Amino acid sequence: LPPPDVTALQHADVAALLPVPDVESDKYRRGVVGVAAGSATYPGAAVLAVAGALRGGAGAVRYVGTAAEEVVRRFPETLVTEGGPHGAGRVQAWVVGPGGGEGARQTLAEALASDVPVLVDADGLTELGRLGPGALAGRTAPTLLTPHTGEAARLLAGADGTAPPAAADLAAARLATARRLAAAYRATVLLKGSTTVIADPGGAVRVNPTGTSWLATAGSGDVLAGLAGSLLAAGLPALDAASVAAYLHGLAGRHAAGEPGAPVTASWVAEALPVVWRGVR
Ligand code: AMP
Ligand code: MG
Repeated sequence: LPPPDVTALQHADVAALLPVPDVESDKYRRGVVGVAAGSATYPGAAVLAVAGALRGGAGAVRYVGTAAEEVVRRFPETLVTEGGPHGAGRVQAWVVGPGGGEGARQTLAEALASDVPVLVDADGLTELGRLGPGALAGRTAPTLLTPHTGEAARLLAGADGTAPPAAADLAAARLATARRLAAAYRATVLLKGSTTVIADPGGAVRVNPTGTSWLATAGSGDVLAGLAGSLLAAGLPALDAASVAAYLHGLAGRHAAGEPGAPVTASWVAEALPVVWRGVR
């Protein structure tokens, strides 16, 4: 790999990238984000991914999956479509995988067959690790992978055909891990953890300067996935969508935890997003 081109996104960069509607905007031009998430075992992951997506700047969120009832009860503004991503109507980006459970493989295949950006997280990443980088070979639009170190280990094993490396080793070499994954899968990679690193297949690397270890809580990654997917649907390139999402998510975690800090829930992190969004603008 060539030497890394590493930057940390600053406040002003994020402000300039936020998708803000103009006077002529309508919800379709702002973008529709499709969320394919949740299962009988994990309906809440769908709710949290939708929570993030609704605050990401797209004009509408379309949900497909088995948790429609839970999603609409919590967020009546969600559009719901029966079936999988294939045939779900026009969306500008897909989020696949949070709490995906049993149906993750089929859902992933249908989303990857589309010609719009796809964010793959959680169970979608486990399936992608089984399939290997070849599963992305036919894609014409960007793919954004959002693994934590355990998911990254499985993806690397899928790329090399080797045993998964220890997650602790990957955490100690975050920058190299993100770059290896981006190169192997020819996808943008957002590697989550104490320091979130984003790597583009073209070689650009960004390190997220926000965040707090209070974000190490169940469901927090699902909110991030929805948020980043919404930014993709709004038209941001994958590297920018991932960087802005990580930045806002980290700020929202800090805001929810307060000073000197207290436990947060993923729902609160999602609720803090509009507050930090205003602060960044
Ligand atoms: P997930 O593992 O998918 O639930 O995602 C966890 C989220 O919390 C990601 O956004 C991580 O970057 C964040 N996170 C986890 N552990 C830490 C940590 N020690 N410090 C800061 N952020 C963390
Ligand atoms: Mg997760």
